Amino acid sequence: MKGILDMKERTQLFGTNGIRGIVNRELTPEFSTEIALSIGSYFNRGRVLLGYDGRISNTMLANAVSAGLVSTGCDVYDAGMAPTPCIQLAVRTHKMDGAIMITASHNPPEYNGIKVMARDGVEISRHDEKMIEERFRQGEMTRVDWREIGHRHSLCGALTEYKDAVKSHVDADLIKKKHYHVVLDPACGVGGLATPHLLRELGCRVTTINSFVDGSFPARQPEPRPENLVDLAATVRANGADVGVAFDGDADRSIFVDATGNVQWGDRTFALIEKYFLLANSGGKVVTPVSSSQVVRDVADKYGGEVIWTKVGSTIVSHTMKKLRSELGGEENGGVFYGPHQPVRDAAMTMALILNIMGTAERGLAELLDSLPRYYLEKDKVECPHHQKTSLLKKLLSEVGHLNPETIDGVKLRFSDKSSILIRPSGTEPLYRLFAEAVTKERASRLVKEYKQKLVQFTRN
Ligand code: MG
Repeated sequence: MKGILDMKERTQLFGTNGIRGIVNRELTPEFSTEIALSIGSYFNRGRVLLGYDGRISNTMLANAVSAGLVSTGCDVYDAGMAPTPCIQLAVRTHKMDGAIMITASHNPPEYNGIKVMARDGVEISRHDEKMIEERFRQGEMTRVDWREIGHRHSLCGALTEYKDAVKSHVDADLIKKKHYHVVLDPACGVGGLATPHLLRELGCRVTTINSFVDGSFPARQPEPRPENLVDLAATVRANGADVGVAFDGDADRSIFVDATGNVQWGDRTFALIEKYFLLANSGGKVVTPVSSSQVVRDVADKYGGEVIWTKVGSTIVSHTMKKLRSELGGEENGGVFYGPHQPVRDAAMTMALILNIMGTAERGLAELLDSLPRYYLEKDKVECPHHQKTSLLKKLLSEVGHLNPETIDGVKLRFSDKSSILIRPSGTEPLYRLFAEAVTKERASRLVKEYKQKLVQFTRN
């Protein structure tokens, strides 16, 4: 059966954000129905919300997944094309037992994926993913009697409810008075569906680029990296706009461009949100992966917060927030988790929070971010075959043992001058990645160089 055997050979089906694969090669309709039988068995005849992003394969895979789900006796509620955070919110609003989102987020157009969410909208735990994987491998699916096959319904209005929910968490009247000119670039992804309307309802003048949904992503890659945001930066400058915002393909991450056309990286905008969150709440717990900048800790130290560092991965951030009752999480890639709304990444919510902060402070984004401590980041990589990754980590740890290494994810060393280096094995490629951060570019470069040399030596010995 096309795709099924290939996927059965994978040691782990679910990656950091669901099952991903190239459509019609790994992610076939046959595989999607089969895995939906396992997911449907897990949901045990429950009510399952179904949503998808704007990819070309979206309805093909949604139909296949839906067939599998109803075959196990689940009722499917099809919300159609929507941002991932919209589906995550609707699971709770409509008291569903769970949800499936068909999306490959920021991956190139030939990919798609299947994400499984629990009744609180957060992706299910690794433990539960393993249960589904095991059922899939063993073929232990519940196929109900023909009389008990589930129904597929349409669920309307999720986009409007989502837009209204985001608005309810900011001072809409304050933002309206400012009449901000915002340039929005959703990459031809599903962020183009609700966000322009949300911005207009917040009194903004909206200029959109790449806001029609097109699953071939003809304008730019769906990953909001600086090299993909040249058109957005130019449009902000040419129009004299107040701010630009770019989303990834399923609109859960956002990267901002200030009025001067500078792309501002995700951990800085997150630190800005953190500052205002801590001020408003007189402190609190903030969850972020070890890959985030020291600026997150600086802000926490100054405004009475406590940073909880986690492994890299948005699901880990969400689950840690839930466990520790934290109301704020963030990632360096532009994912912000605003607990009062929902403990998952949400690009439109992040955008509304940034506008709210600009309005409260009566300052532009560049000025607001300039007031935060600045760090320089330098990256590099070292080739390392998969089978050598563990031994290399051991060698590294024995070498740096006296420097109090953090081993939450790879090895992170923090130095007294607030510089740091993170050395992590790539999950998919035969590589170690190095990320150094320091108050000067020279120090960050020196750190990367020094540890790259060490790693190269370790791989040779
Ligand atoms: Mg995404």
